[in-house]
Amino acid sequence: MSLVETMPETARFRALGPKQFDDIAQRYGLTEEIRRAVRLTSLVLPFRVNEYVLSHLIDWDRIPDDPMFQMVFPQRGMLAAEDLRRLEELSESPADGRALRTAIQGIRGRLNPHPSGQKKFNVPTLGGAELPGMQHKYLETTLYFPSQGQSCHSYCTYCFRWAQFVGDVDLRFAAQTPELLINYLGRHPEVTDVLVTGGDPMVMSTERLRSHIEPLLSVPTVRNIRIGTKSVAYWPYRYVTDSDSDDLLRLFQRVVAAGRNLAFMAHFSHPREIQTDIARQALSRIRSTGALVYCQAPLIARVNDDPAVWSELWRAELAAGAVPYFMFVERDTGPYDYFKVPLARAVEIFQGAYRTLPGLARTVRGPVMSATPGKVMVDGVMETPQGRFFQMRLLQARDPRLVGRPFRAQFDEDAAWLDELKLDDSTPRDLMAAITGSVWPDGAEDGESIPDPS
Ligand code: SF4
Repeated sequence: MSLVETMPETARFRALGPKQFDDIAQRYGLTEEIRRAVRLTSLVLPFRVNEYVLSHLIDWDRIPDDPMFQMVFPQRGMLAAEDLRRLEELSESPADGRALRTAIQGIRGRLNPHPSGQKKFNVPTLGGAELPGMQHKYLETTLYFPSQGQSCHSYCTYCFRWAQFVGDVDLRFAAQTPELLINYLGRHPEVTDVLVTGGDPMVMSTERLRSHIEPLLSVPTVRNIRIGTKSVAYWPYRYVTDSDSDDLLRLFQRVVAAGRNLAFMAHFSHPREIQTDIARQALSRIRSTGALVYCQAPLIARVNDDPAVWSELWRAELAAGAVPYFMFVERDTGPYDYFKVPLARAVEIFQGAYRTLPGLARTVRGPVMSATPGKVMVDGVMETPQGRFFQMRLLQARDPRLVGRPFRAQFDEDAAWLDELKLDDSTPRDLMAAITGSVWPDGAEDGESIPDPS
């Protein structure tokens, strides 16, 4: 692999996007076909990369198939050929600016930009008023979206929050400060976990992050502070050489010294992201503060749809002292057809990788759909005299009484999400009602990032 090691270890972060693409294309000698695909597709989908991803993660000898290149660069095949042609036609004529913008909006609208409303639901209230920047779906966990953490060091082409990065989501939902969160938590002692998420909260300066996190320490019932992030994969310098990285580690130490679990929910999609020296140093420094590192990622065609890749990834995580946690199923949004992996194949990939793991790495669970009724895990495929079934259970649910109970759905080779499955007639009524939606609040949806993604 010929990765160009050009970065000084005192690198300063700079986001690179469509405006810098011609320079990137020139530097790496991209073909005209690839340039056209990236240029046109990034009119519709977000594109952000940085120098570290370019020079340490992408294998330029393997593009366009390289998984890191697929992960961060918009690709031919993500949009319909007809849409690409139209975009090309309109973008060649400066007089067609308005028509181009209309075409872009039209294409975005067809890519399911707001799967089930994402951040509009599960919004808690205080004194009758909705609380911006929060979601409370499961009894013990509240999600918190600081407004300054709603972007990322680089964007994943498969991100289910892609619409937010092209300005198609009203970010006033996010919280400027944690005052309302703290008030709410004071009235809800059942909330033991706060997940700080984004975008990626680690794009914030240490000072800013401190202003959101330290107040949580004043709430005695909050025991676990989770941070959802892909920063170790995309910008590990955040923990090693950024000017406020030492302060950041001191902030982590302070959380741990206050008797809280600091759970660092790291998004790693491919082993390469965890195998650079700087990423290993970053993880080692994070762990030295007493923080626990849990790792999760979605299963994505062309990026990591191979048991050998997951086996290597989970082993690398274990070797770095981190805990393999979740393999998620990709949601129906953005260039979904390009990335989706059917559940039957997802089970094969998960089990193929899981079998190779030492016991300590078998902490990982999957494939898991973070779906409307809760987190649904596909345990496997069962052969029975009545036919083949997916064996499933809820790992997390609005109603805690449903958690852990097994149920099954008819096997379907092509189904890629819960709503494409037919539950077995033997499914208990309460589970059936929760899973098929007859007891959901209107439009309810799980807002937890993959990854959170981070
Ligand atoms: S998946 Fe996470 S890191 Fe990737 S773009 Fe989305 S929020 Fe950012």
